[in-house]
Amino acid sequence: MGSADSFADRVGQAAPDLLIAGAGVAGLWLGLKAAREGLSVLIVERDRIGAGASGGFLGALMPHSPDRWNGKKAFQFAALVDIESEIARLEAETGLECGYRRVGRLLPLANQQARRTALDHVADARANWGGRFGFEVGQTPDKHDWPNILWAPHGLIRETLSARLSPPLLVAALAARLSALPNVSLCEGVCVNAIDVSSDLAHLSNGESIGFGHLALASGVGAFSLVAQAAAQPELTLGGPVKGQAALLDADAPADLPLVYHDGVYVIAHDNGQVAIGSTSEREFDQSTTTDERLEALIKRARKLCPLIRDAPVVARWANVRPRAIGRDPMLGPVPGAPRVLAMAGGFKISFGIAHRMADFLVAEMTGGPGPDLPESFSVGAHIGKARALNARPQA
Ligand SMILES: Cc1cc2nc3c(=O)[nH]c(=O)nc-3n(C[C@H](O)[C@H](O)[C@H](O)COP(=O)(O)OP(=O)(O)OC[C@H]3O[C@@H](n4cnc5c(N)ncnc54)[C@H](O)[C@@H]3O)c2cc1C
Repeated sequence: MGSADSFADRVGQAAPDLLIAGAGVAGLWLGLKAAREGLSVLIVERDRIGAGASGGFLGALMPHSPDRWNGKKAFQFAALVDIESEIARLEAETGLECGYRRVGRLLPLANQQARRTALDHVADARANWGGRFGFEVGQTPDKHDWPNILWAPHGLIRETLSARLSPPLLVAALAARLSALPNVSLCEGVCVNAIDVSSDLAHLSNGESIGFGHLALASGVGAFSLVAQAAAQPELTLGGPVKGQAALLDADAPADLPLVYHDGVYVIAHDNGQVAIGSTSEREFDQSTTTDERLEALIKRARKLCPLIRDAPVVARWANVRPRAIGRDPMLGPVPGAPRVLAMAGGFKISFGIAHRMADFLVAEMTGGPGPDLPESFSVGAHIGKARALNARPQA
């Protein structure tokens, strides 16, 4: 990865077809997908690859509930189905493993109402998941310590669509593939500070300006203000940070254990026997990357939920901010009034499962090729509309 002094030389032209701001899971998948279509790609990263929310270790790929089906759920479902072959291709290209496995998920049912709702969802899953994945309501866990049978007094949901991957292994594989492609350059320590949409120029933190065919804003929490600026509405708040904290335990756990999810606690056994625990969710915080007593409380709950990890030592604690767009849905596509500027932000809690498909949409936008349908609620215009409506609401 080189310095920012010779962008034009490094990409072989004065302006890349695609300039990407941000080297998290979103920017990396987009760079790869665009390069495969023959576009010249330059990724500029403010800090280093995976420095943002993508630098954690959870990697849960969990579907939305199968009821009240809508475009967002359909987009995510297709992405969760696709990801298996996407990862297989990346692993074949790089010879690197991504720690992916479709292990399914267990959700303990704490009361009779939760069980009734779960039973209703059996038919929803059959209708909306195309009959390809299981969703059933059982009486007891197969193993009494995964999860604790005492936490499942009304049984549990067993579904087979959920999967997990290792975020650091995926990020490393994407970065390795990108660095092997002749039409891709990646510069760390450089960020997009401002955009001149009238002349398709990005002003960088190193004092240079660079032209672009398209500019993708995949800069996590930082993308929202750049999108607002490109839309000539810098006063709008299109999204913001939600802090999350997680822990990694050395547990010698079997790699085929399903994910366990209960009341905000996720427990995920990875290929190397380590178990990841997530996540807190904080709208208000002082420090974005420090952990505190909220994480310790979460670890305690997780140990009770899954007694297999009762005594497992914590080997890492981690925190960062998730990009949450104003309407909760991802923000994807051209910016109104600036069609060469593309938003790729707001993946919030599900980016690892959908980033490859978000990238497919943007590549289709640029090349005119076939791509996935975009739910209207993902469009930048929809998010701007929500932000305006909120701004217009009378203050109490
Ligand atoms: C505790 C926790 C647990 C999570 N668990 C899961 C999970 O299990 N499954 C899941 O799918 N998701 C999970 N998430 C969410 C997921 O991590 C994020 O949605 C995802 O990483 C966002 O990726 P991104 O590429 O959009 O943003 P980021 O990873 O934040 O990347 C943005 C990058 O842009 C760079 N940047 C910022 N501004 C600029 C600029 N102006 N120019 C250039 N570069 C810039 C940043 O340095 C950063 O590297 C979790 C998040 C947290 C915090």
